[in-house]
Amino acid sequence: MFNIILFGPPGSGKGTQSEKLISKYGLKHLSTGDLLRHEISRQTSLGKEAQNFMDKGHLVPDEVVIGMISSALDENPSAKGFLFDGFPRTSAQAEALDNLLQLKNAPISAMLAMDVTEDELIKRLLKRGETSGRSDDNNEEVIRARIIEYHTKTAIVADYYKKFNKAVMINGEGTIDDIFERLCTEIDKRI
Ligand code: AMP
Repeated sequence: MFNIILFGPPGSGKGTQSEKLISKYGLKHLSTGDLLRHEISRQTSLGKEAQNFMDKGHLVPDEVVIGMISSALDENPSAKGFLFDGFPRTSAQAEALDNLLQLKNAPISAMLAMDVTEDELIKRLLKRGETSGRSDDNNEEVIRARIIEYHTKTAIVADYYKKFNKAVMINGEGTIDDIFERLCTEIDKRI
């Protein structure tokens, strides 16, 4: 099994690159943002609870997203590998993921961290907000709250993977194809 984490602040291109990577490497895409939006669209109680946090640009509680990932892993027993997108976002989530993967004897192979300047992130998110239909993309205040959450709670997750020599920094600026090539070069070294 080959498991990778695509890591980076909101707007760093994780969703776009995930689509290309899963099709090239045959991985199962697990995006906690997508899973949460799916719960919201179905108006489940989990979705309603999560929406209160997401509307403000805050992280959803750890136990909610860890539970979702745990179920998704169990629902895909024959996956060749997983691409985690937008998860883990806290140290507690990173530790929980290691424990879940240990049960499956399938550790994380690499954490690819996309590096993009803050001005570029805000520009990209506002542009995406024109068409994405995501209310958290078209309000600059919510975008800034999401970036603050990233700096205060998520950025340290990179240190967790650095300790295990699994963190790889990727320049997340340039064309979509250039960035994809950089990601593939790093993945191919580890596959
Ligand atoms: P994303 O689609 O990854 O940008 O996520 C959109 C929103 O969903 C975030 O701003 C958070 O409110 C929530 N979310 C997604 N993934 C997580 C996670 N791993 N932990 C906590 N909240 C999350």
